[in-house]
Amino acid sequence: MRYYSLNHNAPRVSFAEAAVKGQAPDKGLYFPERIPSLPQGFIENIKQYSKEEIGLTVMKPYVGGSIADNELQRIVNETINFEFPLVPITDSIASLELFHGPTLAFKDVGARFMSRCLGYFNRNSNEQVTVLVATSGDTGGAVANGFLGVEGVNVVILYPSGKVSPVQELQLTTLGQNITALEVQGTFDDCQAMVKQAFADADLNNKLSLTSANSINVARWLPQQLYYFFAYQQWQHTSAPVICVPSGNFGNICAGILAHVSGLPVTHFIAACNANDVVPQYIQSGQYQPKQAVATISNAMDVGNPSNFIRILELFHQQFNELKNKMSSVSVDDATTTKTIKDVFQQHHYTLDPHGAVAYYALDQYLQQHMADKGFILETAHPVKFPDTVEEATQQKIAIPESVQYLLHLQKQSITMPPIFDALKEWLMNR
Ligand SMILES: *Cc1c(COP(=O)(O)O)cnc(C)c1O
Repeated sequence: MRYYSLNHNAPRVSFAEAAVKGQAPDKGLYFPERIPSLPQGFIENIKQYSKEEIGLTVMKPYVGGSIADNELQRIVNETINFEFPLVPITDSIASLELFHGPTLAFKDVGARFMSRCLGYFNRNSNEQVTVLVATSGDTGGAVANGFLGVEGVNVVILYPSGKVSPVQELQLTTLGQNITALEVQGTFDDCQAMVKQAFADADLNNKLSLTSANSINVARWLPQQLYYFFAYQQWQHTSAPVICVPSGNFGNICAGILAHVSGLPVTHFIAACNANDVVPQYIQSGQYQPKQAVATISNAMDVGNPSNFIRILELFHQQFNELKNKMSSVSVDDATTTKTIKDVFQQHHYTLDPHGAVAYYALDQYLQQHMADKGFILETAHPVKFPDTVEEATQQKIAIPESVQYLLHLQKQSITMPPIFDALKEWLMNR
């Protein structure tokens, strides 16, 4: 499989090159030159396959040629070595819990796959690679955890001091080894600006081999298809599901649509957004107008110009009507999100996180108009990562899952830094 740039002004490349480069030289996103069809009988017999078999079957056409089968199987197995339960909330709505990975977020899947691919491609090189990443919470933790202990790779995470939740901060700052956390005395935007400037800085690029672990990377995007298949294995209803995905950069839902194009049965997709409503507006008007992001309580979706939207258009052959028939998109405000957490907890004893709550509300509204359908949401993070909002809505303390209890006994280790690029540069040059 080769990949072309969606800006159509760069050579086609292998999976390996697309994964190492991240973005095409013409600044376009890479896209597979054809969408493989699933093997005959695969969907009909999906319950008979193990997660690992599904993983290899789905990923091999995309990666084949760049990674040998036995290595790919190892990478897939390590990527998905936790649970992906589809938990019923009501008769018609279930929750695909994607928060059972090491950092309690769906981003673990993409980050684990990407880090292992880069480790593999880098296996014979003596050069140290530095992954620089700015985070508002979830990305940094998943990336850092994914790269923990990967040889030849150093990870430097910038996070805004006081603006990530306690569990998120522990996940970022207690790993040690090849992971360093920089606690920036500023906002997420400051962190992102510092990282951007570092990638453009000649001195830094001469001295270090800098890489990003950006969500547009094909090695993060493509493995996110897998849990749509795991959900379908657990799907009990006769009609194909309506799938509702809380969306920010639209990578997650885009992976679901890709799985569908290759043969996974899906009745309809809903992209649930918070107040950042560029795509809902687009579906209404046909006009795509990026905006400045606004802050919400589902902050991992505070994106004003979703980078993967262009891939979704490509999957629908750039046809607005084709897209509109298969995918709708709605915007849900913070007050409704909080009320949804409260209502679902009181009525169904299920604790949603703010991102899952946005999706739940959107799916519930849709199903009221389509009574014969049934569906599930993607629950993208554990509620314990957003304790302030969730505990206020439910009036209950959230128990910290056993899998992260050990964090509470670890010592936070961070390097404090002013929100100034020169401070970052000096630190990187002299470490
Ligand atoms: C990143 C993230 C999202 C948004 O996913 P996209 O692929 O960017 O659309 C949703 N929820 C949570 C908890 C996230 O961390």
